Amino acid sequence: DSVFAHLAQAPEDPILGVTVAFNKDPSPIKLNLGVGAYRTEEGKPLVLNVVRKAEQLLVNDRSRVKEYLPIVGLADFNKLSAKVIFGADSPAIQENRVTTVQCLSGTGSLRVGGEFLARNYHQRMIYIPQPTWGNHAKLFPLAGLSVKTYRYYDPPTRGLNFQGLLEDLSSAPSGAIVLLHACAHNPTGVDPTLEQWEQIRQLLRSKGLLPFFDSAYQGFASGSLDADAQPVRMFVADGGECLVAQSYAKNMGLYGERVGALSIVCKSADVAIRVESQLKLVIRPMYSNPPIHGASIVATILKDRNMFDEWTVELKAMADRIISMRQQLFEALRARGNPIEDHFRTPGNWSHIIKQIGMFTFTGLNSEQVAFMTREYHIYMTSDGRISMAGLSSKTVPHLADAMHAAVT
Ligand code: PMP
Repeated sequence: DSVFAHLAQAPEDPILGVTVAFNKDPSPIKLNLGVGAYRTEEGKPLVLNVVRKAEQLLVNDRSRVKEYLPIVGLADFNKLSAKVIFGADSPAIQENRVTTVQCLSGTGSLRVGGEFLARNYHQRMIYIPQPTWGNHAKLFPLAGLSVKTYRYYDPPTRGLNFQGLLEDLSSAPSGAIVLLHACAHNPTGVDPTLEQWEQIRQLLRSKGLLPFFDSAYQGFASGSLDADAQPVRMFVADGGECLVAQSYAKNMGLYGERVGALSIVCKSADVAIRVESQLKLVIRPMYSNPPIHGASIVATILKDRNMFDEWTVELKAMADRIISMRQQLFEALRARGNPIEDHFRTPGNWSHIIKQIGMFTFTGLNSEQVAFMTREYHIYMTSDGRISMAGLSSKTVPHLADAMHAAVT
């Protein structure tokens, strides 16, 4: 008998499991709105032109070899990634107070940051929003941190529970780490306003709480890299310390290349050097050093003024298509008889679809309604009612609107 014979069958991942179920469905009208990956109007995955161009340059460069990268990754990639998130003229970068290491996309950056904190920081408690991306609650405990939640989403208004957020973070123990979504909060699509961010910043700084930003959607929310980085830059501008996990999965469409970065902003250049030395001790026994291809694509694009500009144009086009899907879905639902004036009544007001930001709409549909839509309409999404707007097209909006309308009436 196998030495593993006692193993129970583990459940599918709640997000990736949606695609497993979708793939098994033979229906020709099936629609996968579960996975957070961009699709074109034709429903196809997209490789950016500028990425193809960068890959061509890399392939043609015979001087490129397959040697190991350093433990911290590709130097150009790290330097340029810091500029993308903190701004090209960031004083923190100029003062050499930022250390950046290449990691395995956003997830790997969060994990390395978590382990670094568990080993080197006096407070092990990390506060994550309620709700949040499901992997946060799984990866931080494995990194050695203990997870608590702070109130974030307000179901009745389908907006931010700002009072609850302030209360919960006010009562956090001094020094606690606070996970913040830099923009386009997943799964709710609800972000604080800049005024609210400023209050959050003041609270965190006055209580000595340590901000850890998860930036998985920079540029994807508004279409502008700089606008989406505003909250992070507010926290860096005050001279305080923070961590940022960056992902190029969405904004450069490099999902499977696993390319991201962890930056730690420190009070001084001297501390930043020692922080980096400790990050290497976390990374070396975990995966030794990161892969070269994805980071080379990113560095090639970020280094070249024209390619960088081309990227921002393609990025904005993705963001704009998503924003237009929100508008189309909202109008399709309204046409089916859910007037916007119908505040808080069943079948309800769908205006949150156009108010929310980023890749996802948190529809407010419950797990029974989701199950109904999957059963009757072959529409797949996570059971919390989150739908990926990037998986929609003008052709599929009517089908989704029919299903949502039927689910609530
Ligand atoms: N954080 C959030 C909030 C996300 O939505 C995602 C992607 N779903 C990630 C991090 C990490 O993604 P990746 O590891 O693919 O960069």
